[in-house]
Amino acid sequence: MSEIFNIGLGNNRPEIRKQSESDFVSFWDNQAKKLCWFSPWQKTLEWNPPFAKWFQGGSINASYNALDIHQETNSQKPAIIWEAESGESRILTYRDLWMEVQKFANALKSLGIKKGDRVTIYLPMVPELPIAMLACARIGATHTVVFSGFSSASLRERIEDSRSKLVITSDGGYRRGKIIKLKEIVDEAIQDFDFVKNVIVLERTKEPFQLTSKDKIWSELVQGALAECESERLDSLHPLYILYTSGTTGKPKGVLHGTGGYLAHLHSTFGWAFDIKDSDVFFCTADIGWVTGHSYVVYGPLLHGATEIIFEGAPDYPDASRMWEIIQKYKVTIFYTTPTALRMFMKFGNDIPRSFDLSSLRLLGTVGEPINPEVWRWYYTIIGKEKCPIIDTWWQTETGGMMISPLPGIETIPLKPGSGTRPIPGVKISVVDEEGRPVKPNTKGYLIIQNPWPGMLLTLWGDDEKYQKTYWSKYQNIYYSGDFAKIDEDGYFWLLGRADDVLKVAGHRIGTAEIESCIVSHQDIAESAVCGIPDDIKGEVIISFAVLKENVKKDWLILKHEIFEKIRKDIGPIATPKQIYFVSKLPKTRSGKIMRRLLKSIANNEKIGDTSTLEDGTAVSEVQSAFEELQKSINEKNS
Ligand code: ATP
Ligand code: MG
Repeated sequence: MSEIFNIGLGNNRPEIRKQSESDFVSFWDNQAKKLCWFSPWQKTLEWNPPFAKWFQGGSINASYNALDIHQETNSQKPAIIWEAESGESRILTYRDLWMEVQKFANALKSLGIKKGDRVTIYLPMVPELPIAMLACARIGATHTVVFSGFSSASLRERIEDSRSKLVITSDGGYRRGKIIKLKEIVDEAIQDFDFVKNVIVLERTKEPFQLTSKDKIWSELVQGALAECESERLDSLHPLYILYTSGTTGKPKGVLHGTGGYLAHLHSTFGWAFDIKDSDVFFCTADIGWVTGHSYVVYGPLLHGATEIIFEGAPDYPDASRMWEIIQKYKVTIFYTTPTALRMFMKFGNDIPRSFDLSSLRLLGTVGEPINPEVWRWYYTIIGKEKCPIIDTWWQTETGGMMISPLPGIETIPLKPGSGTRPIPGVKISVVDEEGRPVKPNTKGYLIIQNPWPGMLLTLWGDDEKYQKTYWSKYQNIYYSGDFAKIDEDGYFWLLGRADDVLKVAGHRIGTAEIESCIVSHQDIAESAVCGIPDDIKGEVIISFAVLKENVKKDWLILKHEIFEKIRKDIGPIATPKQIYFVSKLPKTRSGKIMRRLLKSIANNEKIGDTSTLEDGTAVSEVQSAFEELQKSINEKNS
């Protein structure tokens, strides 16, 4: 029997789920009507597997729905409250944002950018980043945002892949007090790219940089630009953006999203999951360079006319109290972050968050990885003071928006730590075996999506074949998510890690998340990752990696014994790892996800593959040396 939290908060609108159950197409038809369309669609869904066309024939504009529709009623409401790394801040009302976007859209036009062109945006977390995206959307240019932490080689690859006509960047960005010279990285990336006609440079740091003949300065371009630029009437299927996945399981994939369906999905899910009210102050910590930033920093909140915080920098810089300080300062009501960030905050102890007034919070969200039940409880107790529901949202770059999540905007259901509860209305998600048959409750299998949904990717940019092969070839006309999961006796979904990482030990299949959560529930452990390596006798053996909490100084043999005992007791002897390696950090993607494939390659003495999204190369060398040292000491003992 799992632990249940009854949280009385939320609305009770059972009719929404009911409507979705009778006919998912007419259900989404009704949801899409909440957006502002220039002309209605002729067909709600044309499903020609694996290509879905939502709201075909309808015309719409994302920038119009994010900005223009609020001008009559909410123009003076803050849209973006920006906190710079230095602590400096800036507030842009819906009117300000609208004006800036129109000016910049005209500036883009003056450089010959038009509907259908691709524009690469390589900016730090400053208000000009959403301004640039919304300006592209306004004129029908497809934006492709590249996270500003990427190297010039990764940036180059993405600019080339999208064949962007324009790159928008800044002289630099701040990261942990240092200036990263983004313009220099762009110059290196676009050498010999004749198809890149211009580079717009925002003067963020005011550090000198070299001007080339392609460069235009942001402030000069907008200075003379008119603050009036009509939104293009775009087809519902018009490509809004290209965005690359995190690269956790392999080389990042270029996901292409359309407009009408994507916006309908975001409008619905943002309202359902966050029960958004006019008085809310929403704070999502994701960088806009990732899908969470696109969907729930830029488009979702603005569609709803919400006030939100955008912050620049790292969540633990200048110190571990940065997030709690922002929440206190702006009386944040909804906070949306990642399990990785939470595990880091936990590692620093409870005193820091306890010394801040977090009483304004009413909802707490999480996304990106399975949240370990221990971390869930900490979030619920220490940050939410046992009064805020934890909104654990499962989704992917490909799904565009949330797919499994508690939805206090429409229903109140009890929560279970570590479960995202149930799929959103209007989608059909299941867990199946190798042959595609639904598995029994509490049995592990592959998470699949049975019907097309509005936020679904259009395809992989320029590669329909890979799109078909990656998501639609394992099962016929069914979307394969690549995640491993189970559904319990109450219909609650539990994400158990990546299907590629499933451990097969002595005939049993175990999700990485199960063992990792067990290790993290040990009081001295902050983070953990497990992977399998081949074994002559057992087929596969489990090896584990763990990061200790701050100031833990226990003998590693004692710790190992305690952790293995815990795994034996909580999961069973077969889940006991062969070895545990203590390291100070784990290799992660730049979006904060543990890259188990690298651990596996190191342990197997193999080449480590694509590392373009690896955040910190020293994590790999540390794992490598921890592995070698322990191997050496074991060999010495044996000889
Ligand atoms: P790549 O596809 O390049 O390997 P990625 O899958 O990490 O990278 P994203 O689209 O950023 O790229 O992440 C989606 C994945 O993140 C999901 O497939 C899932 O594994 C994980 N995920 C996201 N949210 C949750 C959640 N709430 N619980 C469990 N897992 C989650
Ligand atoms: Mg993925």
